[in-house]
Amino acid sequence: MRVLLIEDDHVLGSAINDYIIAEGHGVDWMKRLDEAQLALDTTNYELILLDLGLPDGRGLDLLKSLRAADNQVPVIITTAQDQVAVRIEGLNSGADDYLVKPFDLGELNARLSAVARRYSQVAAPQITIADLSIDLSRKSLRKNSKAIILTSREWAVLTCLLRKRGAIVAKADIENSLYAFGAEVASNAVEVYVSRLRKKLGKDFITTIRSMGYQIE
Ligand code: CA
Repeated sequence: MRVLLIEDDHVLGSAINDYIIAEGHGVDWMKRLDEAQLALDTTNYELILLDLGLPDGRGLDLLKSLRAADNQVPVIITTAQDQVAVRIEGLNSGADDYLVKPFDLGELNARLSAVARRYSQVAAPQITIADLSIDLSRKSLRKNSKAIILTSREWAVLTCLLRKRGAIVAKADIENSLYAFGAEVASNAVEVYVSRLRKKLGKDFITTIRSMGYQIE
């Protein structure tokens, strides 16, 4: 999943940024509204984490302009304990959820997964494909009832493919969900993860569609 983090507090921002990367997602961290707007103009995000007080304006104004433009990207607002009225205004302006600062990173992760699930095309987090049973929310996977361990990046690639199950997913889309803006991406990274997944899950599990991308039937 590719996340846009908008937060001007360096300590909090860098903790959230590192945590999201460790969970296997790509994240772009912006500290001002104008930077965030630029990122939104050029990139499709699957989730926005939005601080409300920013040096060049109110986070709520960004949220309102997104919704006014019919952009339905999931938004979680982050607010201080005493900002009840602002929180309500946020939810009324189209925020999907909120987190009260300071929040536990485990709680952040639970919200991230919940929002991702709500918007993914995978109806249920439990998926059975041939001899595999996959629980996307718990990140657990069994093949013939035997547990198989995946790394967080392998999960990210698998989740990206499963969300569009049956469709051909372009290599660039898989890369997008893995890496942050400007981060170094080895040109064969996706091939490497796909090949690891095939080793673990079966060589026919992921189909390569030449010069188009990858597919899980
Ligand atoms: Ca702030």
